[in-house]
Amino acid sequence: MKNSILDLSSEKLTEYLAAAGEPAFRSKQIFESIYAQNKTSFDDFSTLPKKIRSRLDQDFSLRTLKKIDEIVSPVDNTRKFLWQLGDGYKIESVVIYEKPRITFCISSQVGCALDCKFCATGKMGILRNLTPGEIVEQVLQMQDLIDAKVTNVVFMGMGEPMLNYESVIRAAEILSHPRGFGLGARRITISTSGIIPGIKRFTEEKQPFSLAISLNSTEDEIREKIMPISRKYPIEELLEAARIYSENMRRIITFEYVLIDKINSSIANAKQLVQLTHRIPCKINVIPCNSTDPEYSPPSRETVREFENYVNNRSRRITLRKRKGWEIQAACGQLYAENEKKKRKNKNITEQDNLIR
Ligand code: SAH
Ligand code: SF4
Repeated sequence: MKNSILDLSSEKLTEYLAAAGEPAFRSKQIFESIYAQNKTSFDDFSTLPKKIRSRLDQDFSLRTLKKIDEIVSPVDNTRKFLWQLGDGYKIESVVIYEKPRITFCISSQVGCALDCKFCATGKMGILRNLTPGEIVEQVLQMQDLIDAKVTNVVFMGMGEPMLNYESVIRAAEILSHPRGFGLGARRITISTSGIIPGIKRFTEEKQPFSLAISLNSTEDEIREKIMPISRKYPIEELLEAARIYSENMRRIITFEYVLIDKINSSIANAKQLVQLTHRIPCKINVIPCNSTDPEYSPPSRETVREFENYVNNRSRRITLRKRKGWEIQAACGQLYAENEKKKRKNKNITEQDNLIR
């Protein structure tokens, strides 16, 4: 299988061209054709001589993701895609319209090792990391499918970005490169379940991208039950790492809080949430859980409203924003799970057909 050209940083591309005896400015032209103009075939790289176009075509692939399913929410037009990778594995990404933003929610891994109990991706286990090119390509392909330019990218699809750190950062660099996709670094958010070494590295390296932490509970005992990784990285240490990030980088952090009925959605929990995040400049996204397992369902609308109001009224630093689009099996990993179910059903039907014949 050919390597994807999307895996190459602009420096690596320049090195490749130098080895092929081509001048460095070609790298700029190639980068522009791929990212600014979003060309889907090397043959359309019109600024390049034919010879280089065919050489690139021989050495690299430009698209490796195949769209195999798409669903659109009748409520808010959220579009969710299922892609097949070169080796047959499948991943998801989502387009979320929330005026004036158009947010792409993308995957960083095939599956996830962390087994959060409310999450469909967690049930898959980890199959493999995505390459930088596979991460970037989700953005390029979705951009090609919509009319307006994406305004934000969030790593909130399948996988734990901090456990595929290097590829995620390389992809984010390409997406924010002025001659690459050209999205402002602050508009790219890396979301983590709370991998403390990753947060520390992110802070030490002064990464310009935004950071979100999926807190989801304010008590270690509960958090450990719903997010087993919490046994390794307890809440107090996690919040300390978040505080240091925020202080050193002078940046606001986002805390994600998935509201699950009877588990983390009481007023006492809301109170703890306000107290725990009090010293950290942050905003909080409250997301009613999208049920993937009968044990983990969203609370009533009334409970969600009470929780939001409590937090909203007591902390000036906290702004609440409810994420959209989760109503179309949009929580991460759910379209994948649906597709697997469909496949099994079809297989059964074919097997039955064979028996009848
Ligand atoms: N692994 C990273 C990023 C991917 S998960 C992380 O955990 O942050 C992205 C977000 O989806 C997380 O905030 C997670 O808590 C949330 N999520 C997972 N399953 C969900 C569900 N069933 N309903 C609502 N949100 C969910
Ligand atoms: Fe992995 Fe995030 Fe899902 Fe947890 S919520 S299993 S960390 S993808």
